[in-house]
Amino acid sequence: GSAGGAIMCESIRINSPDVKYSDEVIEARYSYHTTTVSRTGASLTVTPHTTRFTFRTQRDVPRLGVMLIGWGGNNGTTVTAAVLANKLGLSWRTKTSVKKANYFGSLLQASTVCLGTGPDGDVNVPFRDLLPMVHPNDIVFDGWDISSMDLGQAMERAQVLDWALQEQLRPHMEQLKPRPSIYIPEFIAANQEQRADNIITGSKAEQVEQIRKDIQDFKKKSAVNKVIVLWTANTERMCDIVPGVNDTAANLLATIKKGGEVSPSTLFAVASILEGCAYINGSPQNTFVPGAMELAVQRGVFIGGDDFKSGQTKIKSVLVDFLVSAGLKPTSIVSYNHLGNNDGQNLSAPQQFRSKEISKSNVVDDMVQSNQVLYAPGEKPDHCVVIKYVPNVGDSKRAMDEYTSEIMMGGTNTIVMHNTCEDSLLASPIILDLVILTELCQRISFCTDEDPRFQTFHSVLSVLSYLCKAPLVPKGAPVVNAFFRQRICIENLMRACLGLPPQNHMQLEHKMQ
Ligand code: NAD
Repeated sequence: GSAGGAIMCESIRINSPDVKYSDEVIEARYSYHTTTVSRTGASLTVTPHTTRFTFRTQRDVPRLGVMLIGWGGNNGTTVTAAVLANKLGLSWRTKTSVKKANYFGSLLQASTVCLGTGPDGDVNVPFRDLLPMVHPNDIVFDGWDISSMDLGQAMERAQVLDWALQEQLRPHMEQLKPRPSIYIPEFIAANQEQRADNIITGSKAEQVEQIRKDIQDFKKKSAVNKVIVLWTANTERMCDIVPGVNDTAANLLATIKKGGEVSPSTLFAVASILEGCAYINGSPQNTFVPGAMELAVQRGVFIGGDDFKSGQTKIKSVLVDFLVSAGLKPTSIVSYNHLGNNDGQNLSAPQQFRSKEISKSNVVDDMVQSNQVLYAPGEKPDHCVVIKYVPNVGDSKRAMDEYTSEIMMGGTNTIVMHNTCEDSLLASPIILDLVILTELCQRISFCTDEDPRFQTFHSVLSVLSYLCKAPLVPKGAPVVNAFFRQRICIENLMRACLGLPPQNHMQLEHKMQ
């Protein structure tokens, strides 16, 4: 597809004895290089290792269905409208110019990677051309919302898209109606109550059963071959992890049967996992209680999250990485937000704010811990996050940040930033990247020379870290927040699937005599 004036996809063919193409798969032999470090006294011994991998990527791209929880919200309506506008090739007039539908902000659709060198220098291609993957224009949307409003009206309520575009989209959008959802008032702010007119009744077990039926019904009616479920509904309060209640898969399922405390988002996750559908959490709450994680692992279903990394945190994961890797020492990070959309209203309640505060607060840990020249063990910069609800700014969120760093000889460097941006226009391309990347990962398998049985990625899909504020990783795995490490991880993984070495940026060929 060439929607939004993007570069046309020329298919990429790898010319290497390590890469084989069949009708079904691309199979690549790949040498993975790692190093282990051991300490004896004051000296470190570093040993390089090479593991031989074989990667297999299925070439057949399925017809993908995406079910959004919170479909009638700002993100839900905006992503659905954006895909429709791209698919229909819409353009519209604003007071300044004619705008055309595009996918700016999507890693896969709107950013490029360097393949190598051609006669005229570097050859860059859109990320999406590296491997066969779903095009966003082909995604079929469905979903749930506790508000019954059709998507045409809900798009108007969101106040995100230009009016001239809304007018063109409305006839299509108003055909789309969210399915009734699970509403347990104590999990979201009380100020959401007047929206809740589209609710599934019955016991928790019956509600899970209904969600499963909805997924089956969508599959049947839309003829999609694969469904991914994604939470973009309001932020819930955190759940207590209680032994016997939600600590194991069996306990969680028993608690649902008994009608004990389980959040709506966890009920959705359980229903999706039982249907074999990947489940992604775009909000900060701890949907993935240990029991839900265990269930996903048992069933071999991907889960990912938490919380879209769209604005302030994205910059933080760039800026702190820059400061610390430049040898400067951030000593204080203070972040204010104010926003006026329904998300902001929900976050104005203390327990829901607390979920967001937790999610936003750990993002610099890995970068700080990596530099023992600057930081003593356990030492961290002060880090404070404030969020206020100011209706007047609507979806156009303000983020104000002050970064103070200690520089050479006791000097101080203060960087202050003011960011104004439509929140949902940042989150929507991230939603697309999340589901498209997850779908691609479902078609990748690999083995090593030592263990020739093919396996898939771990159920906790940490490759999605780039897109998430508080990345979910398998137990014991390190959390990486640093932005460019997260990005290069995705790029190098895709290169591995093509038998290409990781990007090293050495450009030795240009450094020789
Ligand atoms: P929104 O309030 O406009 O939309 C949320 C929708 O979810 C509403 O339509 C609401 O009726 C619905 N809802 C609430 N509880 C539900 C339930 N149990 N089942 C089904 N529907 C339910 O908010 P938004 O701006 O679209 O943001 C959605 C979520 O994404 C929020 O939790 C927000 O914190 C998170 N998020 C957004 C961004 C961003 O940049 N926009 C970034 C990170 C995280």
